[in-house]
Amino acid sequence: MTDVLIIGSGPAGMTAAIYAKRANLDVLVVEKEYEGTGQMAESSRIDNYPGFYGSNGYELGEKIREHVEALGVAFFEGEAVSFEKTATGFKTTLESSEVLESKTVIYTAGAAHRKLTVLGSEKFDNRGISYCASCDGAFYQKRDVAVIGGGNSALDDALLLSEICNKVYLIHRRAEFRGDASILEKLEQKENVEIIRNAKVQEIVGEKKAEKLLLDTGVTLEIQGIFVAIGMIPQTEAVKDLVTLDESGYIKAGEDGITSEPGFFVAGDVRTKELRQIITAAADGANAANSAIQYIIRK
Ligand SMILES: Cc1cc2nc3c(=O)[nH]c(=O)nc-3n(C[C@H](O)[C@H](O)[C@H](O)COP(=O)(O)OP(=O)(O)OC[C@H]3O[C@@H](n4cnc5c(N)ncnc54)[C@H](O)[C@@H]3O)c2cc1C
Repeated sequence: MTDVLIIGSGPAGMTAAIYAKRANLDVLVVEKEYEGTGQMAESSRIDNYPGFYGSNGYELGEKIREHVEALGVAFFEGEAVSFEKTATGFKTTLESSEVLESKTVIYTAGAAHRKLTVLGSEKFDNRGISYCASCDGAFYQKRDVAVIGGGNSALDDALLLSEICNKVYLIHRRAEFRGDASILEKLEQKENVEIIRNAKVQEIVGEKKAEKLLLDTGVTLEIQGIFVAIGMIPQTEAVKDLVTLDESGYIKAGEDGITSEPGFFVAGDVRTKELRQIITAAADGANAANSAIQYIIRK
């Protein structure tokens, strides 16, 4: 019977492990990817995590994992597929059919960006295509970029990029935007923002990096960067019958990570929150571990 079972070894899970282990609890981290460190491993450069300016995402993940391992935390490779509440805590079933028992669970399975699937999108992933304006916007100073999407993320990204880039094309497949009218109004007043409605990206072309965006309206845009904001997919399939989710599928909880199920905590991108970043995931992990520690002490 483990004290704290952590699902996922991204920044949220690994920080939760540091805090729970240093409280002298018995901790086990279950991660489905071999030596996985979460989404940050996909980022070639991270400039907004304090103390690690210019760090490669893969290396930052490795450093955090080494830190967790140095504290003696055990990792287990496997995918959690379902959870059952028991009299003493939780039974977690893995895809391999193994069952792990724990007093508490901290669920940090993250969220995945919905990918663009058009000709060229795979080739230019990370070579001109980004899924995070607050992460990568600064690499496109005084450049021409396109933002794809129609919700608040797309509008926020376009606004942020309009302060950094030379020109921002905001491309939406419909006439009406789902995002806030007030942000759209601000964008409409920006001289360097061009809003293109009723258009779909058909193809991305270029040599080594994305250079042109071909739209189904026949228009070709010359760009250096493409920011895709067509939604996130929270990884909540395994917990959807256990805890309350919000309308977008994220687990409802405050910063303390307390969910609708006592003893089952959440941290990181999979939680309802505004800003999904490494630093906020790490902060969530510390808070959720603290909640789990308090829960175990008081039981
Ligand atoms: C390309 C890219 C660039 C980014 N750049 C930056 C940046 O520059 N700065 C920044 O702050 N943020 C950046 N981000 C965002 C940042 O990486 C995320 O906000 C952060 O990783 C979220 O951490 P997390 O621990 O909540 O989840 P994740 O990092 O998503 O980790 C979740 C982990 O859980 C595992 N998992 C999922 N389901 C299960 C299961 N059922 N069983 C077992 N394991 C499971 C996954 O394999 C994964 O390892 C970037 C993201 C991407 C994709």
